[in-house]
Amino acid sequence: MVMTRRRFVESLCLMGGATLVGACGRSDPPTLEEAPWEPAYAKLEAQGLFVERIEQAYEIMRACTLCPRRCGVNRLKGERGFCRAPANAMAHSHQPHFGEETPLVGQHGSGTIFFSNCNLRCVFCQNWPIAHKGLGSQISEEELAGMMLNLQRIGCHNINFVTPTHVMPNILKATRIALGQGLNVPLCYNTSGYESVEMIKLLDGIVDIYLPDFKFMDGEQASQYNLAAAQDYPERAKESIAEMHRQVGDLVTDYRGIALRGLMVRHLVMPNRVAGTQEFVQWVANNLSKDTYVNIMSQYRVAHLAYEYESIARAITTEEYVEAMDWAKEAGLTHLDDRSLSQLDIFRRRMP
Ligand code: SF4
Repeated sequence: MVMTRRRFVESLCLMGGATLVGACGRSDPPTLEEAPWEPAYAKLEAQGLFVERIEQAYEIMRACTLCPRRCGVNRLKGERGFCRAPANAMAHSHQPHFGEETPLVGQHGSGTIFFSNCNLRCVFCQNWPIAHKGLGSQISEEELAGMMLNLQRIGCHNINFVTPTHVMPNILKATRIALGQGLNVPLCYNTSGYESVEMIKLLDGIVDIYLPDFKFMDGEQASQYNLAAAQDYPERAKESIAEMHRQVGDLVTDYRGIALRGLMVRHLVMPNRVAGTQEFVQWVANNLSKDTYVNIMSQYRVAHLAYEYESIARAITTEEYVEAMDWAKEAGLTHLDDRSLSQLDIFRRRMP
């Protein structure tokens, strides 16, 4: 690609300090040039396969196994399972979000849609009024499509579905409606990681960017810190994230550094090593790719019910974050989130 002056200036504006961090050892992701880019779901529609996927997804709601809880309730008849979600999607809000990872945010923000309710419900959830208490309103698929188009119209670089697992069929139907009205930005599936691999397979050729958390590596720890008591969280997350990576591969961006396709994994460092960070980074390196985009997050805070759990009733220490990032580097991970690297620099300067 020829780097014109305009492109050079744009990329500096977009990446900000990240450009400097990149010079300190981060390998840049591969970029797609300005050749016509099509979102995955548009290709599926062109192949005539999208409608069938939507029908399959709604059929699953008749005896709901959209997530590993496998409640078996008939959501289409108004029954509700552990997530308490009705048949309609419920959304709390939609807006450009500037706090997500740099490749998602770009200049105009990531187009986030926050869905109400959750199938995992971590005791330390920072969005607990939405995820635990179900704050939000029921919306039709047409209204959801309208939100997506609004976000695109104001320049968001992607549609970022936050906590999508229990409303996946609604998302698919709304996406097809929005596609018919001109949607053409990447879909970002922003999930807790407590997913059923069969459902992720259903999303093959629809989702462009997967943004899963990988919260816990140990089943006992996982079962303590969410209301789903999900002892199987590590296994379900491993299977699902490996499938996500199989579908979309490592992160690919456009010439401005904005995400087009690929996997981005988040891991929140928790007090007293309860998240299993060392095992997490080794798992990524050994089972996905050392070039996987990984965000080792430092922003754990004691929220909602976490005050009642002694091991996690405090912030993380400087030492805990630095050791987590050191483990990531020792594991050979080459594409760590820019802000996590900046955070590491700040934390290191605080250490004696
Ligand atoms: S999506 Fe909700 S109702 Fe369906 S299996 Fe999961 S928790 Fe149960």
